[in-house]
Amino acid sequence: MPNRTSAQSDTPTPRLVQNFAAATQEDANRFRRGELANAEAFLDLIENHLSAANEASALALLVLHFERSDRLCTVLHEDYADESQTLIKQIILQTLREKDAFVFVSQIECWILLPQLSSEALALLAVNRLLNDLLTPKKFPGRTVFLNPSMGLACAKQPQHSAMSLLRAAESAQRNAQTGKLKFVLAESSESARTTPEDLSKALEQVLDANSLEILYQPKVNVASKTVVSFEALIRWPQEHPQFIATQVVIDIAEQSGLIELLTMRVFNKVLCEMADWRRAGLDTLVWVNLSAKLLNIDALPSMLKRAIDVWDIPAEKIGFELTESALIHDIEHTTNLLFGLKELGFHLSIDDFGTGYSSLAYLRRFPIDELKIDRLFIHSLMTSAQDQQIVQSIIDLAHNFKLQVVAEGVEEADTMGLLQKMGCDQIQGYFFAKPISGEFVHAVVKQIADDTNS
Ligand code: C2E
Ligand code: MG
Ligand code: MG
Repeated sequence: MPNRTSAQSDTPTPRLVQNFAAATQEDANRFRRGELANAEAFLDLIENHLSAANEASALALLVLHFERSDRLCTVLHEDYADESQTLIKQIILQTLREKDAFVFVSQIECWILLPQLSSEALALLAVNRLLNDLLTPKKFPGRTVFLNPSMGLACAKQPQHSAMSLLRAAESAQRNAQTGKLKFVLAESSESARTTPEDLSKALEQVLDANSLEILYQPKVNVASKTVVSFEALIRWPQEHPQFIATQVVIDIAEQSGLIELLTMRVFNKVLCEMADWRRAGLDTLVWVNLSAKLLNIDALPSMLKRAIDVWDIPAEKIGFELTESALIHDIEHTTNLLFGLKELGFHLSIDDFGTGYSSLAYLRRFPIDELKIDRLFIHSLMTSAQDQQIVQSIIDLAHNFKLQVVAEGVEEADTMGLLQKMGCDQIQGYFFAKPISGEFVHAVVKQIADDTNS
């Protein structure tokens, strides 16, 4: 649980003036994309949302401060500050919802507005997500940087708050976090404490009971032939639900609240049902499903999965499971047995997010795996970082030594794909070919990628 501090109500924040220009719709859109650096207009945007705040639609303001480990880098490389800000913006954009907004008020401070929260616990989960990403060391050509974030969060459910009082509360909480060497402090005046992540697990339970989680599919494409080899199933919180919860947060909640087994079986059955439809329509593709680390403790997992494929009459050879590298190293003996159990049934196995854990050749050799997926952290700056190129090349060589397929995830640009092809990577997955799409479009995507290749 975050530490608490009381909201400061003395002097106003000095760097702001009180007479705000009205935030226009265009301003709001630019704040959403992180393009506008105008603190006054941003406060006005907060004011607009505050006037509509109520029990069912709260808003939260997050003050995010960085103390970088790289002051020297800033002196040595003049582009550095811009590069790191671009990276932080990308992390924020990936984590936030469409309706959220943010502004950098200096090189080292950013304000994030989370409006229309049906539960304030959502703000805590957003903080969780952001912290996870920001605490991962960032790689720049020739150097690794630790961002050392500290955050303060203030929430409001009533219009009587002003933007300025909310900001003061969040800034004060952030300062307390920084001086207390904490990552995050929740302002005491916030009403967040009344709603908890338990509310979210209830919402998830309801969604699982109604079987309304949505599933999207993203293709893995053979680099040489540019044809679709398989699809990965990725869950999405139902669009029609009044709340919005990001995918990774859904998984976190499911893991923390003991719902992950139910979620996985719901997802798996939905995937199998869709695959049965595709097969009837002539598309006999392999589909990968993500398996959480928590499931590896369940001895009956292989038999549960086998029962499900038998019900839908889908051969095990048409199913693969992606497991993250970190999931595998907790109890290697047990994991090895479980993976062999799955392999013997005919399922394919892949190590997801490879390179971010503590990979060792010794255990890789022990696992009966078919594929390594290189984490997108290394792909993101592949074109510009010699260090990342070396890492990716060694992963590709390592995988080929073990006769494994290598997939690069998060490929967004043609030149990155070209380089990966030269480096010997077998498959790629990423927005360059296709974003995750709903099941009804998988045929069309297979055809479109084939047509693009032939034209
Ligand atoms: P993952 O398995 O590593 O999936 C890849 C993530 O990268 C997906 O995020 C995908 O939408 C995103 N992505 C794909 N291509 C690109 C690209 O070119 N650029 C960028 N920036 N991102 C790209 P998503 O769908 O939000 O899923 C996040 C994570 O949630 C997944 O990471 C996976 O670990 C987990 N997850 C999703 N569905 C399930 C599930 O059914 N069960 C479990 N246990 N975990 C799941
Ligand atoms: Mg995956
Ligand atoms: Mg991955």
